[in-house]
Amino acid sequence: MSVLPEWFALLVFVLFGLLFGSFGNVVIWRLPRAESIVSPGSHCPACGHQVRGYDNIPVISWLVLRGRCRDCGEPIAVRYVVVEAASGVLFGLAAFRYGASWQATVAAACFWLLLVLAIIDLDHMRLPNVLVALLAGIGVLGAVVSEQFDVTLAPLTYGWVAHPLLLSVLGAALGMGLSGGVAALYGLVRHKRGLGMGDVKLLGALGLLTGPYVVLALFAGSILGLVAGLWASRGSELSETRIPFGPWLAMGGIVVMLGGPSVWEWYAHAVGIA
Ligand SMILES: [Zn+2]
Repeated sequence: MSVLPEWFALLVFVLFGLLFGSFGNVVIWRLPRAESIVSPGSHCPACGHQVRGYDNIPVISWLVLRGRCRDCGEPIAVRYVVVEAASGVLFGLAAFRYGASWQATVAAACFWLLLVLAIIDLDHMRLPNVLVALLAGIGVLGAVVSEQFDVTLAPLTYGWVAHPLLLSVLGAALGMGLSGGVAALYGLVRHKRGLGMGDVKLLGALGLLTGPYVVLALFAGSILGLVAGLWASRGSELSETRIPFGPWLAMGGIVVMLGGPSVWEWYAHAVGIA
């Protein structure tokens, strides 16, 4: 696939990212409500009017309509555009990092799932199993076919653990073991839940995708989550503020999939162990 000029591949990925972002908005709204994600077509939540095809162009339609429904004039939440744009940017990053390749396609699919999971977690404080399972499926499938298609997102290259499937299983065990341990410890000390089972499962899926680099994802996600928690709780008790952990884990996962080995090198250098 690398015969395509780089800018063209980047453009194609960004355009697909915008379209998938638009679909992501549908999934984010309907999946937690157990509504069909294919029918009926999109409609305005205020007046119920069907959204016309030409009013359903990612980002552009929202700008043309100046953020209002064509029928009733009710504002359309800026969140929809943010999700579309974020999806476009994430697909672009996948292409930028991996070129026009299978890896870029796999990375883009994972980023899309993580974006949708993050927003659903923000809205509903839960991570739907079906999306986490899709992520895990990509991880296992990627490891199985990585001899034929180079799809490994965060490869390790030394010794007997170099087999991709073994790395995936090791990553899942590390991700679920560490987060499960933290959750159990937190429950013992604080007598309430910090991490949910959804977070533990998500770390298992991230482990299947990134192997042992999942530890970095957990570490990065924890720091981001702590900063967000401190910010959200300003003026009130930190322990009383409930923020979902999924979005920060998702961000940690994306960072690792984009640059796991270099993030690790940077960190190892910074703390003086390499
Ligand atoms: Zn309307």
